[in-house]
Amino acid sequence: MYRAPRGTSDILPKEQAHWRHIEQKVADICQLYGYERIDAPAFEDTQLFTRSVGEDTDIVEKQMYTFQDRSGSQITLRPEGTASVCRAYLEHGLHNLPQPVKLYYITSIFRYERPQAGRYRQHYQFGYEAIGDDDPTLDAEVIDLAWQFFESLNLHHLSLQLNSIGCKKCRPGYLTALKDYYASYTHDLCSDCKTRLKRNPLRLLDCKKPLCQQIANSAPRSIDYLCQQCDTHFNQLKKYLELLELPFIVNHCLVRGLDYYTRTVFEIQPEAEGAQSTLGGGGRYDDLIEELGGKPTPAIGFAAGIERIIINLKKQNIPVPSLPKPRVFIAYVGNEARDKATKLASTLRRTGIGVIEAIGSKSLKAQLRQANSLGIHHTVIIGDEEVEAGTVILRDMTTAEQKTIPIDQLEGELQ
Ligand code: AMP
Repeated sequence: MYRAPRGTSDILPKEQAHWRHIEQKVADICQLYGYERIDAPAFEDTQLFTRSVGEDTDIVEKQMYTFQDRSGSQITLRPEGTASVCRAYLEHGLHNLPQPVKLYYITSIFRYERPQAGRYRQHYQFGYEAIGDDDPTLDAEVIDLAWQFFESLNLHHLSLQLNSIGCKKCRPGYLTALKDYYASYTHDLCSDCKTRLKRNPLRLLDCKKPLCQQIANSAPRSIDYLCQQCDTHFNQLKKYLELLELPFIVNHCLVRGLDYYTRTVFEIQPEAEGAQSTLGGGGRYDDLIEELGGKPTPAIGFAAGIERIIINLKKQNIPVPSLPKPRVFIAYVGNEARDKATKLASTLRRTGIGVIEAIGSKSLKAQLRQANSLGIHHTVIIGDEEVEAGTVILRDMTTAEQKTIPIDQLEGELQ
């Protein structure tokens, strides 16, 4: 028996109500904030990701699905959404539009991870990017959108974590301070952190191991090393967040797992589980477009994991609207009745009434049982007698009440 590959799953019909609900909420909120949808290919040149996400990140080092295609090109299944949007922004000359350009996506993401609850090898993200401005009001708007999105889903008990990790001007000074601090703890660090200290010291701050976390808590804070411009930017952002009444917490250990971030970084986490179960995160990436060959173009974005949103909706017992289903079942007995039923089903569907027609030659009892298990409200029954008289029997499936009506009155009755 074949099974879905480890870390992937089928989204069965019974799960679809949650997915459609979230997609609808995404579309609604993005429209409200002026973001337009973009869909990029599932794979890109590997270099796009190595250059943007960064060679020394977990994603590039350990998690990418990379292969050579038949022409010898190095291809990678997208391990995140931002790089493709930036590539598209450059490729299609979107810098010629009024800035910032605001785009959103809902897409599958591929990462070779150790599968566990809320962590998969293929998952889906909703993300958005505002490209072309470094005004802190844009940061506030992007954070507000994320917060209001979760509000619109009725998800509560979330925390908004915020930090500023500076720019290429002030970050080197901070990294030196960080390395100096960690130099006296090298023996206490986990093996991953020992490597991080050499290759990507910022990531030392978000190790999830208890001892490493304890060390990180007293580490130098990036906000104490910001240059004048970054400091002003961060202070203005905080002022706007207060104005918008967003309950942020400045978290000195928040750094995010991708190298392209500059200045603002933020995450939205369930209060109870914290960083282990982050629902979504984002931040500024003011150098990325330039890094990919464009003019200097500041930008900011956010992405949230859809599976994790669903896990939290279920945990908080938040109902989602059920999907519309056909309301009518057509049952029949006999060959002539079958012809009538087939014609009737088609006629009703053309008027917009959803119909499921019995298929095959089951007994009437079995057909009614099927209608019941489909949760259908009304069954239309046609037998020889009804064919003869030009009528149908309309049965209310909840009360079992039945009445006979002329077939040409059925549509009006159902409407
Ligand atoms: P990231 O691109 O790592 O910032 O991820 C953005 C969001 O996607 C996270 O906050 C999670 O909600 C979700 N996410 C990331 N990786 C996974 C994964 N392997 N499985 C499920 N969801 C994930």
